[in-house]
Amino acid sequence: MIPYAKQNITEDDIEAAVDVLKSDWLTQGPSVQKFEQRVSDYVGAKYSTAVNSATSALHISCLALGVQKGDWVWTSPNTFVASANCAIYCGANIDFIDINLKTFNIDIQSLVKKLEYAKKNKILPKVIIPVHFSGQPCDMSKIHELSKIYKFKIIEDASHAIGAKYNDIGKKFCKIGSCKHSDITVFSFHPVKIITTAEGGIATTNNKEINNKLKIFRTNGVTRDKKLMVNKSKEKWYYEQVELGYNYRMNDLQAAIGCKQIERLDKYVSARHKIADTYKEGLNKLDINLPYQERGNFSSFHLYVITFKNESSQKIIYNKLQKLGIGVNVHYIPVHTQPYYKKMGFRFGDFPKSENYYKRALSLPMYPTLSKNEQDYVIDCVAKSLK
Ligand SMILES: *Cc1c(COP(=O)(O)O)cnc(C)c1O
Repeated sequence: MIPYAKQNITEDDIEAAVDVLKSDWLTQGPSVQKFEQRVSDYVGAKYSTAVNSATSALHISCLALGVQKGDWVWTSPNTFVASANCAIYCGANIDFIDINLKTFNIDIQSLVKKLEYAKKNKILPKVIIPVHFSGQPCDMSKIHELSKIYKFKIIEDASHAIGAKYNDIGKKFCKIGSCKHSDITVFSFHPVKIITTAEGGIATTNNKEINNKLKIFRTNGVTRDKKLMVNKSKEKWYYEQVELGYNYRMNDLQAAIGCKQIERLDKYVSARHKIADTYKEGLNKLDINLPYQERGNFSSFHLYVITFKNESSQKIIYNKLQKLGIGVNVHYIPVHTQPYYKKMGFRFGDFPKSENYYKRALSLPMYPTLSKNEQDYVIDCVAKSLK
């Protein structure tokens, strides 16, 4: 079976993990800080907080921005449930912005309309969580501009998008994670993502106060930093719990693997682009839509999503390809149509573009070690299945 995604673990990664196992520190040792520094350096952000998953990173990001009961948080319906759940964890209300049918990211015009409406009704969101779907960056400069007018904060869910960049209006490429147009960016290191630490995630920011909060929420609300304490103690052992935090720590095994993985990040992303080129060449004569690339955007190509012209094709082609040994998948079932969210009052029809997209989408295998033969096999099978 050719899966839709697959991690790449090298001898280097294994050696790094073994070194940690032989060392004195399995967790809270030197590797986590080292990994945080590597990620910060790579994306060009001042601070990083590594945690045990992107889900945890999204949760503490909401907490660090003060999301609480009564607040509104908006995100895309075309995402993994974690992008919405993080708001619910904080007791906030969630709402969605429908997607653009070219990029499958939140649609800017819909966002503007929704903000206007929310302003009139005094229900403006405290935080918006744009999701860089499949690795294609959202229009961050526009969203940032809107955040100044409507006074919301921004957490980028870049679980798909480490290694992606966008053009900041004629200037140099802007790396996802640099937080040039957001408060926080979150990455996932789950094995299906661009680089992996088995489980893991990170939150990057340029704001020192936000970073302090992220670190405190990661470690049970406890700090050893005298400047962040309520009581001033001179005792060396003294620590203080100042918030209700969690144990969301990344361990040193994960971080050591991450340090090696990030060295190969650019290689991985260019391999993904090569595969995308091969797919494009092999599939562009078929009666299907191929991923649209926004001009000036550089996707990390976490997913390669084809969309059919009509809804009846998806299930048929999915089944045919699965039978041929190709582990195609569908990303995503719109979050608002999940039973949990329907109980909150959301319905089919609320975000029609995301629903329409979902019924026509299929993710083809996409990972750096997918061989040329396998790519050709996928192309052949897709062509055959469409006949
Ligand atoms: C994978 C993913 C997450 C969750 O990541 P974990 O590290 O598994 O918690 C969140 N959002 C998106 C868009 C994802 O793809």
